[in-house]
Amino acid sequence: MNSNSTFLPLSEWGFNFSHPLIIAGPCSVETPEQVKQTAIQLKQHGAQMLRGGIWKPRTRPDTFQGIGREGLQWLKEAGTAAELYTCVEVASPKHVEDALASKIDVLWLGARTTVNPFLVQEIADALTGTNIPVLIKNPINPELELWLGAIERIERAGIKRIAAVHRGFSTFEKTIYRNPPNWEIPIELRRRVRELPLLCDPSHICGRREMISSVCQTALDLSYDGLMIESHVNPSQAWSDKEQQLTPEEVGKLLAGLVLRNITVDDVVFNSLLEKLRHQIDRIDAEILSMMAQRMNVAREIGQYKKEHNMTILQVKRWEEILRTRTKLGVEQELTSEFVAKMYELIHSESIYHQTQVMNKSDVGNEV
Ligand code: PEP
Ligand code: MN
Repeated sequence: MNSNSTFLPLSEWGFNFSHPLIIAGPCSVETPEQVKQTAIQLKQHGAQMLRGGIWKPRTRPDTFQGIGREGLQWLKEAGTAAELYTCVEVASPKHVEDALASKIDVLWLGARTTVNPFLVQEIADALTGTNIPVLIKNPINPELELWLGAIERIERAGIKRIAAVHRGFSTFEKTIYRNPPNWEIPIELRRRVRELPLLCDPSHICGRREMISSVCQTALDLSYDGLMIESHVNPSQAWSDKEQQLTPEEVGKLLAGLVLRNITVDDVVFNSLLEKLRHQIDRIDAEILSMMAQRMNVAREIGQYKKEHNMTILQVKRWEEILRTRTKLGVEQELTSEFVAKMYELIHSESIYHQTQVMNKSDVGNEV
């Protein structure tokens, strides 16, 4: 991202948003009554902006593809009746034109659009000369650069009010999530583009109702600026994403249960204790790195030894044994097995690298 990037914080968008920004509404706009009832109830339960899909990027062609253009008016009317701002997904220049004509307040790019630079550029071109705020969901695949690229294209169209929406990433693996959050990606986005507002869409991360509140809490604990939650007056009858939608009342309960934490605290005692704990972390990290360096020294010695005995570097049995025993040891000490496995994969590949360095080192100089 260009160092002159100028993203406005939500508080300067000219909307009277309070923190955290709560966007809620149905996955799809279905009927004028459904969207209006949902909107009115959501307003009572703390929402500030009404979302609703009009054009739906559905995986299969035989499912409901969205009500289409006429739904924009229903969305706008529901927003007006409930005194909520409105936002809609756009996936083409024509969608942008229609949404602007219907005076929708905010647009968003879906995960299946962010993934496609051609499409993002076409939408960016259609946005040039407008100043409508745009929310940009992460691409379906876990690639930060692609997310940044889409943000950059919209920014270069002159849009200053941009927010990123974290909705999780596709995976072939079977997980408890519909789209695992891979929190490290939005955290890295935050580090790279500090001033860019960041929202979380727990509905598409979870894919089912049960875990939504805990994902919302994690997002707030990571100082996200807001949430986008799918909500429907009658979730079991929803025309799309019925397993993950909450009733407006459930949204209210969820919001009431969230704990808002401060980014910094002025309490001197608290801060000095925090400093002390951070020093402990610094010391432990220094120890971890020095132990790693020692481990790699031993790996180099092993490499030398294997070389002298003409043995291959990769010994699959030994590696499996390490992975099994270390995972067990880690889990006994309350680390997750996924973390231990990932960490050892990295350690093992670093160790192999050091052994290959020793193996490949020419002996010519030593022969003299
Ligand atoms: C949606 O918000 O309903 C949607 C289609 O989301 P995503 O682009 O995150 O899949
Ligand atoms: Mn949806």
